[in-house]
Amino acid sequence: MNSPQEGQIFKPLTADSFHFNCHKDVPCFTECCAKLRLILTPYDILRMKNRLRLSSDQFLEGYTDTVLDNHSRFPMVRLKMKGDQKETCPFVTKQGCAIYEDRPEACRLYPIGRASAMVNGESDTRQKFFVVAESHCQGFREKQAWTLVDWLNHEGVQEYTAMNEQWVRIFTSSKSLGPKDRISQKHQMFFMVSYNLDKFREFVFKSRFFDRFQVALDLKERLNHDDITLMRFGFDWLKFSLFGEKTIQIKT
Ligand code: SF4
Ligand code: SF4
Repeated sequence: MNSPQEGQIFKPLTADSFHFNCHKDVPCFTECCAKLRLILTPYDILRMKNRLRLSSDQFLEGYTDTVLDNHSRFPMVRLKMKGDQKETCPFVTKQGCAIYEDRPEACRLYPIGRASAMVNGESDTRQKFFVVAESHCQGFREKQAWTLVDWLNHEGVQEYTAMNEQWVRIFTSSKSLGPKDRISQKHQMFFMVSYNLDKFREFVFKSRFFDRFQVALDLKERLNHDDITLMRFGFDWLKFSLFGEKTIQIKT
């Protein structure tokens, strides 16, 4: 979900493998952790905010910018670079990434990029992978060879992909959002569910939500303390509230 940046060349991933390695001894170590326009997904945010022991509000306020550009129907959240001359990532240190185990999916994928799109009539999101070859990256000179699958496994990308799958479908969906005068309200709902899980929990538990919608008792219990369950439930709620899908049952 990274946006293209200056000096990047995108090569289709046609060969069986690519040569790459990144470690502390490469001369460019951590150079790529600056001037990024790194889009964060709901699972990225959940992992990072929990790692930093912050509330959703604190994380969004301190570490992100919100963008709504012409290429997207929904608001996106970008990791905010520091205000120093190099515009470095707030988590980069001389030793590497300070949140390495919880770094965002885009950082895990790099130097692979991915484009996702929903095609009408198809249930699965179409994905294309490519190599992002940047001139300053010395990692391509290393001997280590990877297949795409090996790389994704090595970097723990699949877990992130699985967690965000439903959300990517919503984000890339071409389904109608209904009347124009409701779109701003729907954007706000999308933002809250996608990026501010604490607020979504409040919305569910402090409104008349359970009076209006059927939610099994054990699920209600888990929504209260299990972030992953809440995030997944949120995706069902988005499909219901944005597109009118029957993913949530109204009480009769
Ligand atoms: S520029 Fe490439 S080799 Fe250098 S630290 Fe970044 S990913 Fe690793
Ligand atoms: S989150 Fe970590 S890996 Fe990603 S840009 Fe920042 S320092 Fe680099």
